[in-house]
Amino acid sequence: MDADTTQLACPHCLAINRVPDARLGEGPRCGRCHQPLFTGQPVALTAGNAEAFLLRSEQPAVIDAWAGWCGPCRSFAPVFAAACQRLEPQFRFLKLDTEAEPQLAAQFRIQSLPTLIAWQGSREGGHEVARISGALPLPQFMQWLAKAYGLA
Ligand SMILES: [Zn+2]
Repeated sequence: MDADTTQLACPHCLAINRVPDARLGEGPRCGRCHQPLFTGQPVALTAGNAEAFLLRSEQPAVIDAWAGWCGPCRSFAPVFAAACQRLEPQFRFLKLDTEAEPQLAAQFRIQSLPTLIAWQGSREGGHEVARISGALPLPQFMQWLAKAYGLA
């Protein structure tokens, strides 16, 4: 039993690392490529890394589905980045560019932009826990996350 470790993907090489929970906040590095497992910045979600982040990582993962032509998406981007800085390493923050990754956007049935998805990874795979459409100010976004993950 590994109740005291968290399995998570490296944003650089996608290796699956197993990190002791007590060391999660100590700037853990990837066992394969030795780069930081958390950089303080959202990671681009792609068809190539979705499995590693969504189905093989045991963390909550927050997805921002956006497009370059979408004004509200651009205004929400700094809010998402600020939440990432506050909530890593407990959460992973992922950006889904719906124009660059249309198949992934279709899998998530993205109908309007931006759409924010709260995802929970687990050893058995992962599942969506909540979603909301439309940009939110930072306090409301943080509240929504806390409620989605049962922390509030
Ligand atoms: Zn790595």
